[in-house]
Amino acid sequence: MSIVVVGSVAYDSVKTPFGEVEKALGGSATHFSASASFFAKLHLIGVVGEDFEMKDIAFLKERGVDCDGIKVEKGKTFHWKGQYGFDLNTAQTLETHLNVFLNFSPEIPAHLQETPILFLGNIHPALQLKVLDQVKNPKLTVLDTMNFWISSELETLKKVISRVKMVIINEGEARELTREAALLTAARKIQSWGPEIVVIKRGEYGALLFFKDHVFSAPGLPLETVKDPTGAGDSFAGGVVGYLAMKNNYDLPTFKQSLIVGSTMASFNVEDFSCKRLQALTKKEISDRIRLFKELSHFEEVKI
Ligand code: AMP
Repeated sequence: MSIVVVGSVAYDSVKTPFGEVEKALGGSATHFSASASFFAKLHLIGVVGEDFEMKDIAFLKERGVDCDGIKVEKGKTFHWKGQYGFDLNTAQTLETHLNVFLNFSPEIPAHLQETPILFLGNIHPALQLKVLDQVKNPKLTVLDTMNFWISSELETLKKVISRVKMVIINEGEARELTREAALLTAARKIQSWGPEIVVIKRGEYGALLFFKDHVFSAPGLPLETVKDPTGAGDSFAGGVVGYLAMKNNYDLPTFKQSLIVGSTMASFNVEDFSCKRLQALTKKEISDRIRLFKELSHFEEVKI
């Protein structure tokens, strides 16, 4: 199954206690594609400015990602500046320059409007709505968002949520969005707005799946090297949605497996800055690490 992904293609300036990068390749659609391209055919829709170096995404093209939907507009590429302390679970946004996104109106070409899977990466919710208006009978629609839009565009964001099948959101943002402290209650509230499936990302601690009435917890893998968590959420989503697309199966066991694939991809992403680690990654490394996840969380039935 193929996936249409709409989101930001960006230059990020990021500082963590382990180093920093200036205007390195980033963006929700970029990190998502770097991850999902291991599992499925992708069509990326986005916008960049005249300063964007197409060679930065050559590795995505090599993996078969269709980048024809990336428009080049007058002006500068979206630029995000953020930093992290030793708690790498929370990003502090220092600057957000929407630049070419200010006048962007995503257009899904006619031949892609019936693509079975749609991933709405983190961009302005009004743009996400425009995309939803253009697609025809998708099997799976998935939404990602962030605090920036929860605090500035709540009503529009709620409209988008009511129209998708699945929401992927991080823990703090789920609480902010629903004004609930307990994650189960927060997830149930989001489900009551429309989506059958909610995934709550918990940074290094893993992720929770709320699938109709079922709950499943995927662990986070304890890592030796963590340098930059930017894009972990998007590469997690890339693993989840990419795996579902590869299997073309949307039952509970497949969703559970998809969370493990997502956690695996996120665990690689944080090992280096920008998209570097996913750029160098191999399928063999992915399957070896999936095995580690199984060892980490498997135990025999406990009888007392
Ligand atoms: P995450 O996976 O949540 O760490 O997402 C990181 C990516 O989101 C970065 O590469 C940023 O370029 C991108 N980003 C940050 N803020 C925004 C925003 N307001 N709209 C769209 N993309 C953003």
